Amino acid sequence: MKLHEYQARDLLARYGIPVTGGGVAVTPAEARAIAEQIGGPVVVKAQVHVGGRGKAGGVKLAQTPAEAEQVARQILGMNIKGLTVEKVLVAEAVSYEREIYLSAILDRGSKRVMMIASAEGGVEIEEVAKTKPEAIVKIPAHPTMGLLDFQARELAFRIGLRDGKQARQFAQIASALYRAFVESDASLAEINPLVVKADGSLLALDSKVLLDESALFRHPDLAALHDPSAEPEAERRAREANITYIKLDGNIGCMVNGAGLAMATMDVIKLSGGEPANFLDIGGGASKEKVKTALQIILSDPNVKAVLFNIFGGITRVDEVARGIIAALEEVPTNVPMVARLVGTNEEAGRALLAESKLIPAATLAEGAQKAVAAARGEL
Ligand code: GDP
Ligand code: MN
Repeated sequence: MKLHEYQARDLLARYGIPVTGGGVAVTPAEARAIAEQIGGPVVVKAQVHVGGRGKAGGVKLAQTPAEAEQVARQILGMNIKGLTVEKVLVAEAVSYEREIYLSAILDRGSKRVMMIASAEGGVEIEEVAKTKPEAIVKIPAHPTMGLLDFQARELAFRIGLRDGKQARQFAQIASALYRAFVESDASLAEINPLVVKADGSLLALDSKVLLDESALFRHPDLAALHDPSAEPEAERRAREANITYIKLDGNIGCMVNGAGLAMATMDVIKLSGGEPANFLDIGGGASKEKVKTALQIILSDPNVKAVLFNIFGGITRVDEVARGIIAALEEVPTNVPMVARLVGTNEEAGRALLAESKLIPAATLAEGAQKAVAAARGEL
């Protein structure tokens, strides 16, 4: 689960990390009132669950309350990477000399919490990671003792903080970030930028926290921060229909029953030279209605150039799924080519139903994946 910046900021502040104040506004007039209270230049920031808001025009400075109102009017309602801005954070604007990057992530490779820092923080951090990987410092926290003091200090030195006082403050922030990460069962806790002010002190200007949904039951206070209005439409629909859906960057939509089969399907698509557009598990005993919803969700992604159905009928009956596909295609007009590999319970009945449709049949998963890859390239 993603937290909004202001929620993440409040969480990190509870661990003693220095953050900027300010408040959240849903109207331009509210933004103005907050700016009046702050009584100086402010920064108005879109609260949406995407990165790169700054580059997308979702972060703007305002010198006066009137300007804050005007800037908030521009940002509220703005569409950033498919999400509509419903709220802005109005915080005191800070002048600074440098931007640092600092985060804690779960590193599956080393099975540790990895602390990552860079002297070259700010909006270009992804570019830095690509073109100058040596500018990114990584230190794994001790698996049972946590982030040790000497590790936090080493992180500071390795990003070039040589002043004793500054390195100490950085080490305190890194340790606090580590604790916030572990105690809230996060999968990411990030500060970018952590700025160095003229007096040498550090301040977190932007916070990002992702929480592990499987552990939310242990944190009712954090679970209560969930903002359904901020969820992409497709994910909300999937959650309500009890479908597990994760959007990816490829162009082959996948509809599969069972998480393991869905993972295998993505692997075989990749093996065949394609890229999956999503992970989607319709679950066991998927009804016609559910199949229809799943197909609508898959096709709502404009990148999808082909769809692969990979259904293994056990509890799920293949003919029921076939009826769902046919019902969905009647209601969702589309020219996207579709490949179906349906096997298992009632497969003959299912295949007979689909023989009438435009679906491209496949007998095996390998054949299905190859046909889907070809179809996505316009070669079928
Ligand atoms: P992101 O683009 O979604 O990561 O949003 P950020 O909150 O990190 O803001 C993007 C950029 O806006 C930062 O890297 C800063 O350069 C700038 N920015 C944000 N807050 C302030 C501020 O208070 N003062 C100044 N001068 N710049 C800011
Ligand atoms: Mn940022």
